[in-house]
Amino acid sequence: MPFKWPADTDFALWELDVIDRACPACGRMMYICDHRYRRLHTLDGPVQLVCKLNHCPDRLCPGHARTKSPELELTIAPPSWAIAWDVFCWIGHRRCSRHMSIPHIQSELQDDYAIKLSDDAIAKYIQRYQVMLAARQQDPDVLRRQYESVDEVVLSIDGLQPEKGHETLYVVRELTQKRVWFAEALISATADEVQRLIAQAKEWARSLNKTVGLWISDKQDAFVTGIAAEFPDVPHRYCDNHFLRDLAKPVLEADSHAKVQMRRKVRGLRKIEQAVLKRQGAKAPKSLGEDGPEATVTVIAGPANVLSPESDSAGAVVLDYCAAVRGILNNDQGGPLQPPGLLMAEALTEVRESIQRNLDAKKGGSQKSNSIVWPSASTEDWNMSKPSKSQSESTSRTSRRSPRPSNLEGRVARIARRSSRS
Ligand SMILES: [Zn+2]
Repeated sequence: MPFKWPADTDFALWELDVIDRACPACGRMMYICDHRYRRLHTLDGPVQLVCKLNHCPDRLCPGHARTKSPELELTIAPPSWAIAWDVFCWIGHRRCSRHMSIPHIQSELQDDYAIKLSDDAIAKYIQRYQVMLAARQQDPDVLRRQYESVDEVVLSIDGLQPEKGHETLYVVRELTQKRVWFAEALISATADEVQRLIAQAKEWARSLNKTVGLWISDKQDAFVTGIAAEFPDVPHRYCDNHFLRDLAKPVLEADSHAKVQMRRKVRGLRKIEQAVLKRQGAKAPKSLGEDGPEATVTVIAGPANVLSPESDSAGAVVLDYCAAVRGILNNDQGGPLQPPGLLMAEALTEVRESIQRNLDAKKGGSQKSNSIVWPSASTEDWNMSKPSKSQSESTSRTSRRSPRPSNLEGRVARIARRSSRS
């Protein structure tokens, strides 16, 4: 990785001496025979290393032909690198822990430390970092220490595709310590290849002297046969996550079918709206031309003050109910755990109950004062029926643009009060 330093770079000068100067072959005191100059990026700025090289003065000693470098040099940077360990660790950490992209790392290095590296160079350093990380991860001593207190291990295997078009990376993880044991990219993931990985896991468990209590996977064929062959007596369970994901598919299909049924049943919004608008002496807005839930909701209130205030606001409430229902029918938010069709059914039920409360109140309203009956149908009612945060988030799109049934009830109440006074 040749690197061209700008002519005006201000280097810190670090001189390094060989500390143990006894010749490893004959024990005589070694002499300085040469200097090696290196320039490095560190997080503290550019550094020039002056490494004093030593050799044995005795021409006949094998220590004469071999020079010795200062011991400290390797602790600052590996041979021929343009960056010191601190920059290397910084890059590796940003990549592996923060998942930053190479261009992002590149720009942060430049902005924060004035270190200019090519993307190729960064990619190469990341690769080396990963190799070191993997070696550390598989260090038998470290592993043995971590598994000292564990009686039984739980293993899982899964194939991941980190990048589209690339080979699948098979990962064997141990779940009690949440540790990746090893990973291998398999170009052809035949049953034999997969079984080889499972056998490798068996070898690991054996070298740690631990029993495998359980295997977990998505139960694809190669895993089922491979685990059965290598671990005939160990149970093999379905992974929760995969199980849920597989279960979600038929649930969402059924839910989508239910939505279609509901939309088929709740129809005729346009007719109601047109009737109201006609009575108000206005034409239906163009967006109401096409019926069905796809039509956008634009009607919030009809043209004001055309008729008497009561009938006009009553019409507006009807339009608002229509808008609310249309919003509900249009809402597609949700997932397998909050199926949109279920949310739709709940919301439609709420609208029906709200209308029913209005009808009930109207019956009793002519005898008593309405103001006693109505507060129960206020916003409280709506809030109580919000079962969870996630659901309210998923319905918020609807509720924001369409009136809420309970708010509508409040308006119906005001209209009713006004008309009962007159
Ligand atoms: Zn010597």
